[in-house]
Amino acid sequence: MSELYQKLENIVSDQFISDNEYIRHSYSRNVDPLLQGVPDIIIRPKDAKEISEILKVANQEKIPVYPRGGGDCEFGGSKPIGNNGILLDMKRMNKIINLDTKNLIVTVEAGTSWGKLNEYLSDFDLYTGCMGPGSGMTASIGGGISHHSVGGGGCAKYGACTNQLVSLEVVLPTGEIIETGSQANKYSEYPFNRFGNGPDLAGLFCGDNGIMGVKTRVSLQVFPRPTFANYKTFLLERKSAEISSEIFSEIRKMGIEVYDAMYIMDLVVNVGCQQGLFPMWDDLKRKKGIFFYTIEANSEEELEAKTNQLDQIILNKRKVQELGPEISEGNIAKWHYEEQGHWQMYHNLWGMFPALEPLTAECFTPISTYPRILTDLDQWDIEHNDDIQKITEITGQRPITGSGPILLIDGCNVELTCGFTSFSAYHNGKYHDLIDEINEKLWKSVLERVTRHGVQWYMMGDMMSRMMVEIGAYPEAFYNLMKSVKQTLDPNLILSRGKFKFGND
Ligand SMILES: Cc1cc2nc3c(=O)[nH]c(=O)nc-3n(C[C@H](O)[C@H](O)[C@H](O)COP(=O)(O)OP(=O)(O)OC[C@H]3O[C@@H](n4cnc5c(N)ncnc54)[C@H](O)[C@@H]3O)c2cc1C
Repeated sequence: MSELYQKLENIVSDQFISDNEYIRHSYSRNVDPLLQGVPDIIIRPKDAKEISEILKVANQEKIPVYPRGGGDCEFGGSKPIGNNGILLDMKRMNKIINLDTKNLIVTVEAGTSWGKLNEYLSDFDLYTGCMGPGSGMTASIGGGISHHSVGGGGCAKYGACTNQLVSLEVVLPTGEIIETGSQANKYSEYPFNRFGNGPDLAGLFCGDNGIMGVKTRVSLQVFPRPTFANYKTFLLERKSAEISSEIFSEIRKMGIEVYDAMYIMDLVVNVGCQQGLFPMWDDLKRKKGIFFYTIEANSEEELEAKTNQLDQIILNKRKVQELGPEISEGNIAKWHYEEQGHWQMYHNLWGMFPALEPLTAECFTPISTYPRILTDLDQWDIEHNDDIQKITEITGQRPITGSGPILLIDGCNVELTCGFTSFSAYHNGKYHDLIDEINEKLWKSVLERVTRHGVQWYMMGDMMSRMMVEIGAYPEAFYNLMKSVKQTLDPNLILSRGKFKFGND
């Protein structure tokens, strides 16, 4: 046993540390199929104090540390970059610490999943507003805050999950423990507000992709779930990308508060129906684009007024057909709101085919821009037909280029889930490397293409954090500022070493 292992074992006890080869390999990937990095040691810490001690040892030994929540990052963010380091599995820290029902603030350990937290809150008729990401049944609160996650329901009304952040407890890369917001006043008994007591230091850790500190405790605003809700689904028979973008835009211009609004392109509707994912649309004669909204209200009058306003916008468009009110009649909006479809949908999409390899380009972009980006992706597909053909020949399935669900988020922006979905249906082992090589080349190419549309990445992980630097997308002054903040907080580049290429890698 190495001296380092011994020191770490003394901190957490032998039950919660391992360097077993199988365990190390099981933590070497996230949900993308291509990026791998095998950690040397896995630790499941119990609290901030243990993490602080671990980080102090890592600094003495100059060993990188990678925090991991649910491991759902699509860009390889919660596994090592290269084969090295200590992986911190945060999922043991999953306690709900306090619900302040007077001030509507919940405090949890950062490894708690969005599913667990919202199940707990539902007993009090409360919810987190934005329900975290679509992966919320497994993804952690700490991972969501580290990504600025959106998507698991409610983000048209509440925005990204970082919008409801009140306070963070963070272990800095050198081992000091701090609290942000109201807790920066040591006389404050409990978290109540994010802003004040100086600059918004919580912001430094929001969307940081795990590079600035390890989040250990998170306080979030929670909200009473309104009593009334309505949900409608529409078939957009022509020009569905353009029409959906017009609808999103008009909703915002008219100031109508929707809880969720989503567009699902024709291709996903078609392929999803073939794969049995959308039984509610099996009977649709024309499998075209789908648009749906969900709304909430505190009275029947308010609900009716909002529904009428929305119907006016949507049904005024040409060739739009409203589907029936029940889930069995095609109303996916009802399933999305009432049956936690907001989490199930994404988990289902990821498992649509055996050997599916989603190489995504998930980003934020203004409503007005996504039809143009989707048209350009069609063009990208044509330009890369030779490589795509090679994969088709080996696997028997043609990779799919396009978008997944497009979701209205804060302001006049959407979360655009797009990219290139490939396959790895190997007939024999000899093609693994070839498929991986082509997939990686195509993935990088599609990501660069989408970046050049000026989009905003929020989940960056290994792939996007390094690519932004490699293709020179960051303005120099911005990158230098980010680098000097990182060097001040983390002089040995311990935390998530390799991301954003701050070192010589
Ligand atoms: C099926 C599926 C659906 C998805 N849907 C969405 C969606 O709708 N919206 C969306 O935004 N994303 C989505 N994602 C991506 C991803 O699941 C989310 O971004 C999620 O928030 C990640 O949480 P996690 O706990 O799995 O984080 P991980 O993948 O474990 O980690 C994410 C990043 O945060 C860091 N990190 C994790 N915990 C901590 C901590 N406590 N302190 C410091 N750093 C930490 C890691 O180092 C890593 O960089 C989806 C992924 C899948 C597989």
